[in-house]
Amino acid sequence: MKRGGQIASPESLLSTFFHEYGHTNYLVEHHDKEDEVASETEAIRFSLQALENEGYPNLAYREAESVKGMAGATPYKEAVANLKSDPLWQSILGRPTKSRGPQEVS
Ligand SMILES: [Zn+2]
Repeated sequence: MKRGGQIASPESLLSTFFHEYGHTNYLVEHHDKEDEVASETEAIRFSLQALENEGYPNLAYREAESVKGMAGATPYKEAVANLKSDPLWQSILGRPTKSRGPQEVS
């Protein structure tokens, strides 16, 4: 996932690390049939689960919101569509957190 040319905050480095870790996991398991959308879906899901597991639910929420913000373009658009039925995705976006803004969960 690209974060633009800005200097990354520690929080975004952690999210990016887990995201890229998820891509790597996908590539290791699917090296013979790589699929961009499936890889992106796995990377997003892996990063959200890892942030949850490491005790950063607010970062997980911000990451999910960030991904939703990129859902206008492939492969994020398809990945978000895949994740909408995922219980982890639903629970993160449906949870009230300090970082949560006024936007509606879709
Ligand atoms: Zn990615």
